[in-house]
Amino acid sequence: MPVKPFRLRCRLCNQPVDWPPQQPRCPRPVCRGPLQPKRNIVFDATLIEPALTGMWRYRHLLPPVSDTPISLGEGGTPLLPLLPRENCLVYVKNETLNPTGSFKDRGAAFLVNTIQGEDKIVIDDSSGNAGAALAAYAARAGRQARIFVPAEAPEGKKRQIRRFGAELMLVAGGREAAAQAAEAMAREPNVFYASHVWHPGYALAMQTVAWEIWEQLGRRAPEWVILPAGNGSLLRGVRWGFRSLQKAKYIQQLPRLAAVQAATCAPLLARSQNNYRAGNFTGSPTVADGVAIPNPPLIDAMWAAVRKTNGRVITIPEPEILQAQTELAQRGFWVEPTAALSYAALPHVKPLLSPNDTVVIILTGHGLKAA
Ligand SMILES: [Zn+2]
Repeated sequence: MPVKPFRLRCRLCNQPVDWPPQQPRCPRPVCRGPLQPKRNIVFDATLIEPALTGMWRYRHLLPPVSDTPISLGEGGTPLLPLLPRENCLVYVKNETLNPTGSFKDRGAAFLVNTIQGEDKIVIDDSSGNAGAALAAYAARAGRQARIFVPAEAPEGKKRQIRRFGAELMLVAGGREAAAQAAEAMAREPNVFYASHVWHPGYALAMQTVAWEIWEQLGRRAPEWVILPAGNGSLLRGVRWGFRSLQKAKYIQQLPRLAAVQAATCAPLLARSQNNYRAGNFTGSPTVADGVAIPNPPLIDAMWAAVRKTNGRVITIPEPEILQAQTELAQRGFWVEPTAALSYAALPHVKPLLSPNDTVVIILTGHGLKAA
């Protein structure tokens, strides 16, 4: 099939950027805004490659990468009814079964396949899962990786990053200080900043979650998708994925997206209430460390993804997060606290449902990570 050029644009100033971008953000120094597809991808089911495993079955629907992508078998995760013996309309998309135990493998795999230049070292800043994923895929690609991690990040996640041979840089001062350290190093030559926050390829790879759900439900969209939202790559990518199906008329309506945060750190809720000032939000600690991000740089794009699907921002108090984690384990799903947010949000979504509505909750990270 002829490869169409794929183009990006800056969300703030519309600056056009060719794929793959040379840096993860708008190249205009005065702007530095987030990049997104110039036009939404139009889904075409005839381009699915069933012979390829996992998310690569959609490779012709994604921006072009090499003919033989580096992979560890990411994507293709099961969609299961929450309650196996009831006629139930709640499904679990079990992203914990990705190679490093989280959905981030999709983004990391995709980014590693966009790097041009043999000797480039890959870097990212992460509170854990994105770093572990990038470390694994850099190892798979034979590349050196350096991950900037807040000093207080969970030990299990730090161990996982080290285990894959990446250089772990512990940064004092929280998540945002880790991001600043990575951005400083990104200016050096021979560095590829595989930012799971900024690089548009990361969220673009998350479209495959939407496409898989659509196929697994028998080529239809659920009425709701519930997911944890920290920096928003899953949220934005899932919306783009369903939007591409809608543009091609495979679905009539977009699912409503419920973005879930911990009640102790819920900047997106503040943003939805016009109560958020960039850089000034402070949260308190939460067991849901994956979404403990008080000032997500792409918060406006995140809020747009919720608003444009008539979705909801839902916040969960700490005891309910742990209770949800326990209840999921009692059903056989061992997830980390962040992933339990999706399940904990179910009672908040149920009053909004019509009879026969289908709900998909995305379980984002494995319980072993927090063990
Ligand atoms: Zn710009």
